[in-house]
Amino acid sequence: MQSSEHNGFASNSPNGRDAHNRLLESMSAVGIANKDVVEAPYLTQEHILFREQVRRFVDTEVKPRGEQWEEAGFVPRDVLRRMGELGFLGVRYPQAYGGSEMDSIATAILAEELGKSTFGGFAVTVLVHTDMASPHLANAGTREQLERWMPDIVAGKKIAAVAVTEPDAGSDVAGIRTSARREGDNYVLNGSKIYITNGVHADIYFVAAKTDLAAKGSRGISMFVVEKGTPGFSVARALKKHGWLSSDTAELVFEDCRVPVANRLGEENRGFYAVMKNFQNERLVLGAQAIGEAQAAIALTLEWVTQRRTFGTTLWEKQAIRQRLAMQAAKVEAGRQLVYNTAWLASQGRDCVKEVSMLKAYCGELVNEVMYDCQQFHGGFGYMREAAIERMVRDARIHSIGGGTTEIMLEEVAKRMIPSRDRT
Ligand SMILES: Cc1cc2nc3c(=O)[nH]c(=O)nc-3n(C[C@H](O)[C@H](O)[C@H](O)COP(=O)(O)OP(=O)(O)OC[C@H]3O[C@@H](n4cnc5c(N)ncnc54)[C@H](O)[C@@H]3O)c2cc1C
Repeated sequence: MQSSEHNGFASNSPNGRDAHNRLLESMSAVGIANKDVVEAPYLTQEHILFREQVRRFVDTEVKPRGEQWEEAGFVPRDVLRRMGELGFLGVRYPQAYGGSEMDSIATAILAEELGKSTFGGFAVTVLVHTDMASPHLANAGTREQLERWMPDIVAGKKIAAVAVTEPDAGSDVAGIRTSARREGDNYVLNGSKIYITNGVHADIYFVAAKTDLAAKGSRGISMFVVEKGTPGFSVARALKKHGWLSSDTAELVFEDCRVPVANRLGEENRGFYAVMKNFQNERLVLGAQAIGEAQAAIALTLEWVTQRRTFGTTLWEKQAIRQRLAMQAAKVEAGRQLVYNTAWLASQGRDCVKEVSMLKAYCGELVNEVMYDCQQFHGGFGYMREAAIERMVRDARIHSIGGGTTEIMLEEVAKRMIPSRDRT
């Protein structure tokens, strides 16, 4: 467990303890408390129990309903509320807000298990809320801001989104143009955001905007909390996507949208650094999700190739097929170890930007390579909408794009391969 002192909050409140105890009690109620398997040196008993609980939720609540959510284009509120009750939405947050105060390894476990659901759209709906949007509040919020919003976020009563990308600024975050002009006790926001996950159904948006228009590059950006219903803020349209169909994605518009100064997160003009810091967790989580998806694809494909017969034997009996699957399994295991080793480094407070960038690039590419082979070995059935692998192929494509493209990640790695004194 991490220190309970976080952002000025003494987190050992009776409510927090209750939530945490509930998590452990519900784990033991399903008969897994005494399991003493240790999968890796950095996994504790608590991590293992947590994994079991998420896995059970995925098996019982997600897999049977995932297709309906794909059709509907979003994940219903009752599912997110239920996840809040089970303690899945505040894994790292202070107990004072109902969180469990676990570490980055627990976050990776959550992402990996949600990825294994085979519904990438569902997984990202949850992970944007828990690990890409709400960390902006957790890391920069004042006591008042945390008390105001965090309990409902952890309970799944308010769903969060993060709005950084704009039509003319994705990889190049410093190029955003949405502005926030100070007027007395308010900021007035103008501009638009695009490809925002949870953008249609969220209640609370963490929005990056320029507070100093004259400042060059990364300077002059600040982060704001904008609540649904704020005059001047609207969801311009829901976007239709290639995959992740159960995740809602939106274009957002701000037209003279007045936001109180009390809704600014962190220091004025320091928002770029907050975005970059939070990207580290986002990328770790996306890598873990991708690895979960790749494992699920291999498992599905194993089932298929051991049943399907051609030329008198099963596909598994063809050496070319089983060796290719074995190679993919080896690569996935390598990626998985990189994810967990990096999560461990993060849990120790160590600088791991290079490792995070490596795993985001590696897992984002690998999951697509794995999906290609898995769909190939399913033959014609793999091309049918009724085959899970068909959906998984579409869902995987985003992993080399969203949250930092492979090219940008490799630049981050390359920068750190040469000591700074030798760089040109
Ligand atoms: C489904 C989905 C969900 C998303 N959710 C969110 C969200 O919730 N919140 C949010 O803020 N954003 C979100 N995004 C945005 C996402 O993070 C960006 O799309 C991504 O960072 C890439 O930015 P871009 O689309 O502007 O591409 P660009 O930056 O225009 O890049 C286009 C191509 O050029 C390459 N490229 C760019 N610069 C360089 C360079 N210097 N060197 C080499 N190659 C380069 C890129 O790698 C890429 O291949 C989402 C996107 C999608 C598709």
